[in-house]
Amino acid sequence: MTENQPKLVLEGITREFAGHVAVNNLSLTLEHGQVTCLLGPSGCGKSTTLRIAAGVDREDAGRVLLDGKLISGGTVHLPPEKRSIGLMFQDFALFPHLNVVQNVAFGLKGNDSRARALEMLERVGLAHQADKYPHMLSGGEQQRVALARALAPKPEVMLMDEPFSGLDNRLRDGIRDETLGILKEEGTAVLLVTHEPEEAMRMADQIALMRRGEIVQIGAPYNIYNNPKDREAAAFFSDVNVICGKVVNAQTDTPFGQFFAPGMADGTKVEIVIRPQHLRIDFDRNGKGPNPTPQEGVPARGLVERARFLGSESLVELRMEYDNSLLRATVPGVFLPKEGTPLWLSMRRDRCFVFPAGNNERCIPVGTGK
Ligand code: ATP
Repeated sequence: MTENQPKLVLEGITREFAGHVAVNNLSLTLEHGQVTCLLGPSGCGKSTTLRIAAGVDREDAGRVLLDGKLISGGTVHLPPEKRSIGLMFQDFALFPHLNVVQNVAFGLKGNDSRARALEMLERVGLAHQADKYPHMLSGGEQQRVALARALAPKPEVMLMDEPFSGLDNRLRDGIRDETLGILKEEGTAVLLVTHEPEEAMRMADQIALMRRGEIVQIGAPYNIYNNPKDREAAAFFSDVNVICGKVVNAQTDTPFGQFFAPGMADGTKVEIVIRPQHLRIDFDRNGKGPNPTPQEGVPARGLVERARFLGSESLVELRMEYDNSLLRATVPGVFLPKEGTPLWLSMRRDRCFVFPAGNNERCIPVGTGK
């Protein structure tokens, strides 16, 4: 093994189930000490990818390399127990007839296995529960035992499938952070499957966004969030507003002013996408909004349909006067204007994404009626 070699490489992995392609020619590299999240909607092939990396399932095409050595592909298939990979699943299945320390020591070899198990329990803050049995622990404590068990053999790669989804919200954040701390300290390369964008943003060094068996975008969380590849990728991370337009001379006219659509041919339908927190709200002053600016374009007026307080922010839904569509804007703190209040919205150009609408039939350019 060389220093700069990736820890685990999946290369051109394809897996079919009865003619249905669950994973399609997927390639992914895990680096030492980095957390990679496979993120995507239910059924997009995340677990299948992880199971192939673990060796509990086998690819139909492609190969898996650990430290540069082939562990699966062609006629080679190293079984899971020989891969020195730690596994942690949503159903973490502790052995009910073994106490906590025995559960953690299970699978460790040598005379110091109990000492190592106790050391790991110390790390997850459960050394004082070592002699208890799993049914005597809370869900969160059981999860931490499972983590200690998975980490006890010092795996250099950890594969985790929705490991926190069985925990309630309050416990989840704490255990997630503790787990991340331990994995980082140990320098483990991690592949974590989740369908929750917040979890991926919180845990990942890199997010691999999956859709229909393929990775559609990969990168650091802030890159994926701030430079989504298309509307679907943007919408996976938060609610989005979509304004439709048509390209004329590399730009499109909308009720919010013009937007550049570089490189797009005349007549192309485009979707202008903006997150609710990036819409600017202004009060109506005698039927007027703020003056247009190059940064924020032209304001458009709407009437408040509903406003709700969500905790750290307020969500305001506006029925827009230009086409009766509904747009959502959020503002920090408490802002609860009455139903029917006129407000103006503007779109900060540096916060908008302009994508080709493709064959999205629901995208009807504003003002054209078609
Ligand atoms: P989820 O978040 O719901 O767990 P996922 O992204 O992990 O979804 P997979 O479990 O990898 O998705 O499944 C991908 C596709 O492959 C799904 O359509 C699923 O029904 C199918 N699939 C997975 N395992 C099998 C199997 N053993 N036999 C048949 N089809 C399968």
